[in-house]
Amino acid sequence: MAATDPDCLFCKIVAGDVPAEIVRRGERTLAFRDINPQAPTHVLVIPHEHFADAAAAAAAGTGLTDEMVREAHEVAVADGVAESGYRVVFNTGSGAGQTVFHVHAHVLGGRGLQWPPG
Ligand code: IMP
Repeated sequence: MAATDPDCLFCKIVAGDVPAEIVRRGERTLAFRDINPQAPTHVLVIPHEHFADAAAAAAAGTGLTDEMVREAHEVAVADGVAESGYRVVFNTGSGAGQTVFHVHAHVLGGRGLQWPPG
């Protein structure tokens, strides 16, 4: 059975206990709009199963992070930002800005994106 954390905000979104603007729902992933968007397209892709970060999800060896990146691309296509370019970000660790410790890929697009990021 998939791991969940009863105290985790994103597990609550997966369960439907916290509302979210869902844009894609897969067998193992969910994509929803970020509540505080930093670009015209700002969607979070998460697994249903609880992993603290991308490294933990990848270490499970089930192809989940590949699936998240494929879903991120489908989000970009659906939002019409795939051709102009988009960014997929896994903040990992509080020093890198991670605030929710349920792995999520930020999908950002629809405006010019600077490099290096802040
Ligand atoms: P992090 O800082 O990389 O961990 O990203 C967490 C993201 O979750 C932030 O961009 C928040 O704006 C977003 N967020 C927090 N709570 C919610 C919510 O309830 N719905 C959608 N996005 C959320």
